[in-house]
Amino acid sequence: MILYEGRCRPCDKLFDDVMSVDEFSENGLTCPDCGQPAERYYGHGQPAGISGPLPSKPLVIKHAGLEFTSKSQIKQYEAENPGARMLTKDDSSWRSHHDKTRAKAESRAKARGFRDYEDQCNHQRRERDRKNACRS
Ligand SMILES: [Zn+2]
Repeated sequence: MILYEGRCRPCDKLFDDVMSVDEFSENGLTCPDCGQPAERYYGHGQPAGISGPLPSKPLVIKHAGLEFTSKSQIKQYEAENPGARMLTKDDSSWRSHHDKTRAKAESRAKARGFRDYEDQCNHQRRERDRKNACRS
């Protein structure tokens, strides 16, 4: 079984459907809303496959109160919220955000007199352990 992503242009809707390759080549995709044949949607150029959130394995973003059970739900959300973007940890913009944040943390730690960020973390861990030791 393969997860196919479909797009119905008249409904302006993205959806997922799970079916066999044979079933797909025989019947293609059908829009769940209007029942018309729909085209296969390749997202950002990647071929569709079995990946991304599923009803049995939802993507939950607790702090935002969001839950997605399919890739097309995410795309739909991104389409409705132009400012929002889902990033994976391999995404280059996430990488650069991570690197920038890390660099900031490094320079802040050095400004506080630590050798580097790692040094500050170790110090904080020791402090925490010391406090916990006093409490017990
Ligand atoms: Zn439709």
